[in-house]
Amino acid sequence: MDSEELKAAIEKLKNFSQKKEFLMAIDSDGCVFDSMNPKQSIAFHPKIMEFYELWGIESYLREVAEFVNLFSRTRGCNRFIALQHIYRFLRGRPEAREVMIEQGIRLPETTALDAYVEAYKDISLGNPTLEEYVQKKAKSSLESSLSKLLAWSKAVNLAIANKIKNIPPFDYIRESLSLASQNADLVVVSQTPYEALDREWRQHNLDGYVAAIAGQEMGKKEEHIRIAAQKRYPSDKILMIGDAPGDKKAADANGALFYPIIPGRETESWKKLAKEALLKFFGGTFVGDYQEAIIAEFDQALPSRPPWQEPGYSHQVSYKERQPLRKAMYERFDPQGRLLTMEEG
Ligand SMILES: [Mg+2]
Repeated sequence: MDSEELKAAIEKLKNFSQKKEFLMAIDSDGCVFDSMNPKQSIAFHPKIMEFYELWGIESYLREVAEFVNLFSRTRGCNRFIALQHIYRFLRGRPEAREVMIEQGIRLPETTALDAYVEAYKDISLGNPTLEEYVQKKAKSSLESSLSKLLAWSKAVNLAIANKIKNIPPFDYIRESLSLASQNADLVVVSQTPYEALDREWRQHNLDGYVAAIAGQEMGKKEEHIRIAAQKRYPSDKILMIGDAPGDKKAADANGALFYPIIPGRETESWKKLAKEALLKFFGGTFVGDYQEAIIAEFDQALPSRPPWQEPGYSHQVSYKERQPLRKAMYERFDPQGRLLTMEEG
């Protein structure tokens, strides 16, 4: 995608005309599309092992990365922040360190990653700013690590584009969007690159429901909502729909309401939105007890404490618990791909 298309997309977000009384901001990955599981298992995690020669600790890396990206409070966080969490957790696990010492494996130095995140965390973390930073740090001691990080990030995008195709939206999406768009202007707010969002929403003929699409390059989700709202909609008439705590934070930052799509119970969540929650939102009775009860359910589904810090933890048991999910992803999207399978029983 060229910068002209991106500029046009940003203009569209800023300048769409308000047609309805309400505004709804909708996250995409893991919320509308069942894309989080394949993107993480097939692209993000193997590319870390490939680029940083970490296949020897595959079971630990996958377990940690799945916790960070899919099954905890940090679900859906930016990929560079996720890398920081992953390395931090791995460094803190003695049993993983033992394997690394045995096999002569070293975790990557994170000075360059940390410097980049620190420099751009309040602006935007994504390939365009990383590219800018690589140029800025040319001929410095960070240059080669930053270039490698950028190459990894580009390889992830490429793997996603090549391998993960035609992910259908969850059930009840079309019904929900159709109903929602009767009273609300809809915008997509996401930390996925714009090009991928545009492609996915078009592919499934969902783009017709939305006034604008905001991606990773256009800033954080809370900014997306602010830009889209432009003080045109009162905050109690703005609803954010998402599947991660970061989505709720983006809503909170704008004083907006939040409806969670609960990980693992997505279809049920969309059905409830279509059949019940939307009517409450438009009727002004969503806020209060109703919203609080749904958010409490959501919080319970995403713990902050990792399984390996729980008493009675077994690495084998924990790795095998997600094995059916990993296998299903590989069978569907990358049958030839490399995946460690532990014996059943
Ligand atoms: Mg999401």
